[in-house]
Amino acid sequence: MEEKCTFCKIIRGEASAEFLYQDESLVVFKDIRPHAPVHLLIVPKEHIRSLNDLKEKDRDIISKMVVRAKEMAKEHSIAQSGYRLLFNVEQGGGQVIFHLHLHLMGGW
Ligand code: AMP
Ligand code: ZN
Repeated sequence: MEEKCTFCKIIRGEASAEFLYQDESLVVFKDIRPHAPVHLLIVPKEHIRSLNDLKEKDRDIISKMVVRAKEMAKEHSIAQSGYRLLFNVEQGGGQVIFHLHLHLMGGW
């Protein structure tokens, strides 16, 4: 956990976000500035800075995030119409929150 990280604060309950799903390893909440009718963030509870920082031990969490994205797409009825999954990696890749997260966008 990082003291000042926005997503760590959300996970600790110190900043507000409505969890649409949570389990022992990840949470899902709505993006505060949506770029699609459905725009969710799938976020590991562990603080990992970006995709660049993944270690061998993180294989499991990445796989859980992708499977959870698929399930959330189904729950939000966008599985058949289609959706995008996106990792922004570091500043040049558009990352502004340096706590790993997967964007799920769809419903256009
Ligand atoms: P990225 O550019 O990949 O780092 O995306 C970070 C995303 O987090 C952006 O789409 C923001 O709109 C979103 N965001 C920032 N702060 C919050 C927050 N407090 N609750 C929900 N989403 C947030
Ligand atoms: Zn964090």
